[in-house]
Amino acid sequence: FVTIKNAAKSFGKLQVLRDINLSVERGQIVAIIGPSGSGKSTLLRAINELDPLTSGEVWLEYVQINKTLPHRQHEAHVNQVRQNIGMVFQHFNLFPHLTVRGNITLAPRMLKGLSEADANKLAEEQLAKVGLTEKIDEHPSRLSGGQKQRVAIARALAMKPKVMLFDEATSALDHELVEEVNLVMKQLAEEHMTMIIVTHEMDFAASVCDRVLFMDQGVVVEEGPPAVIFQNPKEERTRNFLRKHL
Ligand code: ATP
Ligand code: MG
Repeated sequence: FVTIKNAAKSFGKLQVLRDINLSVERGQIVAIIGPSGSGKSTLLRAINELDPLTSGEVWLEYVQINKTLPHRQHEAHVNQVRQNIGMVFQHFNLFPHLTVRGNITLAPRMLKGLSEADANKLAEEQLAKVGLTEKIDEHPSRLSGGQKQRVAIARALAMKPKVMLFDEATSALDHELVEEVNLVMKQLAEEHMTMIIVTHEMDFAASVCDRVLFMDQGVVVEEGPPAVIFQNPKEERTRNFLRKHL
C-alpha cells in the first residue's frame, strides 16, 4: 500500500538515509524506533514530500509520490499527496491565529472545495471523534498540549487520508497528557487506519503496532513483529538501543 524502494537522502555531504526499503500493507501499523539522528523524521517527511528523497521511490497504492514534474503540475500533485497522507508532528503545528474550527476546515475548503457548511460538519464529526466538541471555537493557545495534539489529529483526519504518519506525537507532552493522545491513536488502529508511527514509547509500539522497524544511521537495522524486536532482537545494535530505552 505504501512502498519505499531504495530510498536515499543526503543533506550536502551528510547521508541521512541509505537504501531504505519498506512496504506497509493497507491497515497495517508500523512503528519506527531508533536513536536520535538516525533518520526517522527524514523518512516520514520524504513519504509525504515535505522533504523529497535524493534517490529512490515512494509509492502510495498505484501512484508514485516522488515523481519529477514540471513546476505547475508538481504543485497540484503535492496537494493531492497531502490529501492522501495525513501527518502529525511533535509540536502540533496548528495555525495560532485560527480557531480549532478554522484549523480543521481550512484544508478541506481550500484543497477539496468543500462549502463552509460541509466543512463545519466535517470539523464537528472529527472533533467528536477526538472528544473535543466543546473546544470548536477556541484558539489553540487556550488548549492543553494533549488537546492541541488531538486537534492536530482531527485536522489530519478531516482530509480522509489513506495513511497517517505520526512523528513523535506525544514526546512534547507532559506525562499525564500522553495517554489521551495514545487513546486516539489506538482508536484509529481499531478502525484499521494505515499508520506509520515514529515513537520513543516502546510500550505503546508493542501494544498497538503490527511491525517494528529499528533504524540506526540511516538504515533499517532490523524489523519484525513487536514480540520479536522487543523480546528477542537479533542485532547487537538493536539490543544496545533497547537496553537504554525499555
Ligand atoms: P530524533 O529522534 O532526534 O527526532 P531522527 O531520527 O528523527 O532524530 P532526523 O531528524 O531524520 O533524525 O535527522 C537525521 C539526520 O539528518 C541528523 O543528523 C540531522 O542533523 C540531519 N538533518 C535533518 N534535517 C536536516 C536538514 N534540513 N538539513 C541538514 N541536515 C538535516
Ligand atoms: Mg525526529
